[in-house]
Amino acid sequence: MKQKILNHGSFLVLLSVLLTFFAASFVMYHKFSMNMKQDVRNEAEYIKMGIQAMGQDYLTEAVGKLTDSRITLADEQGNVLFDSEKNPSELENHSDRPEVIQALKKGHGELVRFSSTLSTQTFYYALSLEDGKVLRVAKTTDSVFHTMMSGFTLLGILTIGILLLDFFLVQKQTTDLIKPINELDLENPLKTVCYEELRPLLVRLDQQNQQIARQMEELKSAEAMRREFSANVSHELKTPLMSISGYAELMMNGLVSEEKVPEFSGRIYQEASRLSTLVADIIQISRLDEKNNELVFESVELYELAQDVAAHLKPAAEKKKIDLTVEGQEICLEGVRQVLYEMFYNLADNGVRYTDEGGRVKITVSRKLCQPCYCVEDNGIGIPKKEQERIFERFYRVDKSHSRESGGTGLGLSIVKHGASVHHAKINLESEPGTGTRVEVVFPKKTENI
Ligand code: ADP
Repeated sequence: MKQKILNHGSFLVLLSVLLTFFAASFVMYHKFSMNMKQDVRNEAEYIKMGIQAMGQDYLTEAVGKLTDSRITLADEQGNVLFDSEKNPSELENHSDRPEVIQALKKGHGELVRFSSTLSTQTFYYALSLEDGKVLRVAKTTDSVFHTMMSGFTLLGILTIGILLLDFFLVQKQTTDLIKPINELDLENPLKTVCYEELRPLLVRLDQQNQQIARQMEELKSAEAMRREFSANVSHELKTPLMSISGYAELMMNGLVSEEKVPEFSGRIYQEASRLSTLVADIIQISRLDEKNNELVFESVELYELAQDVAAHLKPAAEKKKIDLTVEGQEICLEGVRQVLYEMFYNLADNGVRYTDEGGRVKITVSRKLCQPCYCVEDNGIGIPKKEQERIFERFYRVDKSHSRESGGTGLGLSIVKHGASVHHAKINLESEPGTGTRVEVVFPKKTENI
């Protein structure tokens, strides 16, 4: 950048020096040429008056020696009578010279003639005298081209001098210009905005810094969560596995009487089922964690899905004599069928599991302020206010033993929370211990597909 500014600066100075030189030379030369022509005209007028007063002797005795202009006198036929530089007899007839022709016709005539090398030019001014003769005064000067060329040496030296000076000045200015940019605090770019033109760039940089900081934070908390999850998973898997191996060991060592064998094998079966539910839930939540971008969205009908969930939970509900119902209307939305099913199932399953015998669980699919809504209401044990925030955390249970006994894994609601975020849905929870629980999943209107 510095080199570029330097190159541009030097080029501009060189260009302006050259252009200034040409323009100044041209104007000066023009002015000089005008003055010279006027001087020649005046000189011719004076000499004319002298000749008329003193005759041709005026030329030979006075003027010819005093001026460096060339003075020529010719008669009406163009024969040269006097010339201040050459012998008249050596000069040819001047009757064909344009300035002489003009002077004979109009009283005066003038002409600029260039030398063969173009290095000089001569201005001729001719005047007719009262006796019919023609007086011509001529002055030779360097041509405009030659004047300029002769100035080039001086210009060259001047340009080199100016360029050297300019090089140091431009270099200094460039360094001063770039210094604040080099000293920018990239961690806090908006702290010192040296040039207003850079503000949009610095604002963008600041935004990116903030974004990176946010992402780092998210990464850190995700990493912490993963670590905690792994620790919890090992712990959760260990409990049923230890029970299974304990019961199996007792049976293996013949410490279980014949009549107790069905009870012990039943416990082993229960623990193994719990283990398999736990593994299924862990797989489901890990899949949601990793494959957020690969989920396939399709049109899903919520009422049908709710009925499907109820059909699967029917045996468990009947076992506890719970009245499980589905109400509402058909609503389609763009969603991931498998994820929606898991969410709906876990909510309804919780309803059945945390409601005492003879209770009721109602599933409703409806529109809430035009937004698709899935709601599960039960009259079960309820959730204390202070626990309501935490129950969506992984492996969090209000009552560990009750959850275990009823086959809970502590992952159900975290799967619901995850699924809701995949669908940009909101979860509303209302619960009163001893009265019951109502959980709503409200989907945004735009995902609805009518
Ligand atoms: P779990 O597999 O233990 O049911 P969840 O994540 O589904 O795990 O739920 C977390 C905890 O929230 C449960 O252990 C339970 O204590 C409480 N809970 C969830 N749903 C209900 C409900 N409908 N009624 C009462 N308590 C509930």
